[in-house]
Amino acid sequence: MAVSSACHFSGNRAAMYALRRLAVRHSRFFEQLYLYLERVMVSLDPVFQRIGYERLERPFALTESVLKGLLFDCKMCGQCVLSSTGMSCPMNCPKNLRNGPCSGVRAGGFCEVKPDMMCVWVDALEGAARMKHGQIKISVVQPPVDGALRGSSAWLRVAREKALEKRREAPPPDPGKFAIARTFPQARAVEPASAPLAVEPQAALHGQAARELPRANAVAAHAAALPESMEADRATPFQRLMPYDPIVHAPPVPPPGYKSASGLEHTLRKGWFAVTAELNPPDSADPGDVLAAAEPLKNVVDAINATDASGANCHMSSMGISSILSRAGLGVVLQISCRDRNRIAIQGDVLGAAAMGVSNVLCLTGDGVAVGDQPGAKPVFDFDCMSLLRTLRAMRDERKFLSGRRITTPPRVFLGAAENPCIPPYELRADRLGKKVDAGADFIQTNYIFDIGMFERFMARVRDLGLHERVFILAGVGPLPSPKQARWLRTHVPGIHIPDSLIRRLEGAASPADEGKKICIELIRQIREIRGVAGVHVMAYRREHLVGEIIEESGILKERIAAREAERSR
Ligand code: SF4
Repeated sequence: MAVSSACHFSGNRAAMYALRRLAVRHSRFFEQLYLYLERVMVSLDPVFQRIGYERLERPFALTESVLKGLLFDCKMCGQCVLSSTGMSCPMNCPKNLRNGPCSGVRAGGFCEVKPDMMCVWVDALEGAARMKHGQIKISVVQPPVDGALRGSSAWLRVAREKALEKRREAPPPDPGKFAIARTFPQARAVEPASAPLAVEPQAALHGQAARELPRANAVAAHAAALPESMEADRATPFQRLMPYDPIVHAPPVPPPGYKSASGLEHTLRKGWFAVTAELNPPDSADPGDVLAAAEPLKNVVDAINATDASGANCHMSSMGISSILSRAGLGVVLQISCRDRNRIAIQGDVLGAAAMGVSNVLCLTGDGVAVGDQPGAKPVFDFDCMSLLRTLRAMRDERKFLSGRRITTPPRVFLGAAENPCIPPYELRADRLGKKVDAGADFIQTNYIFDIGMFERFMARVRDLGLHERVFILAGVGPLPSPKQARWLRTHVPGIHIPDSLIRRLEGAASPADEGKKICIELIRQIREIRGVAGVHVMAYRREHLVGEIIEESGILKERIAAREAERSR
């Protein structure tokens, strides 16, 4: 089926695609070949040093690009991780994900952005399963690609890095490189080219980096002791914070044992069933529109998600919405999509958001630009959600940017990620969740759950892996407005699975909108019973007014009031 889909590609691309998939099918053979090649390259290091890596760079890069291009459809990122990606080059992923797959994989394992192509990461998982060390290596969180190394020889880079380790030589001091190697230590251990430390020959550097000498200062990152705790004021059964004004307040400080001053974190650590909901961002510059949309949510949720151009459509920014809501005293989850900003912009945004009182950040890879209303926009995808999580965790816990530069006041944020239990590869979704937890996720919000059986199977695997004890999982739910919209969502929005039985139920109802709400409440009650689920995330597109009714009728609100009263009486 997958090979026949290649027929839709034009001649050359179809041939490359077929070869790429052939390499995945023979990943075990290539794994052995790569190990052998690596040993040969490392043993030749003394010869390479005598000739000079500088002189060797161009001929090696050319040979590598021809051979790897033919065998793997390689895009020459210079930081080859093929042995960790089942011999499927991750740079063929239209989002350039180094830690995929994304949440938009289509039925049958086809790509969200290029529906004629098999998902590069579905192939990667298949290839990794055939390899001796593939399963372990693919679970390692990889750093973002260093653009300065594009087009250079990864084979020579591996030789330099391994030879450096073998000689037990101290690498030259370069704070930027050290910071990445320390932030992604397992990646450096399994794929030294992904986080290199050795001196790069000038010929291997691309663009501006080629004109700059490596920096020579040692890393000096020392985390300071946490300041005193500050409890948030809680006026309703759900968490409400004091209105936060950066002019008059210092940044919120986490209580002892907490990572943030977030009301959401507080609820989850208390063991109360948490509720978050999505606010539909206005197409307007009026803060009043944000406050009006938040009004029906503010007393029934622990935090409000400010979406970041979801579906690749432009609206008021998540940063703008988060700062308006924080100043109104509401808990917010700032969503950050890797699609639209590079690592410099995102790290700065997170500092800015924390300074505005934001305590929760949700790291997302983001939908491809093609699904939005401006398909000609340039996709960035400098980070993917895993490398973003790992970077933000280092900013918070180690007080340093990805460059290694020190942050004086770190962003005390509770870190989240999304997961989609209802799309392929189903059996590996929980394992992928584990990778996100390793990368730094404190909580997870899932995509819509309409198929409770599928979600139960996912949660069983989550429990088998012990992940429910390491991360708080909030299941995504929402009211379907009509059978027509349910079908539209299923066809046009990446990553949504709605069983036929639910659509038939909506069709047979006198009032499909009421039936959609009823289904949502039933799902919440069923989800509440699943061990390991810590809450729900309600997404009611442009129908925020329904969220309160859904939460109240589901019984969660009563439970929360009882839990708070029990705590007060102790
Ligand atoms: S489905 Fe997602 S992860 Fe897979 S190749 Fe396409 S964009 Fe990349």
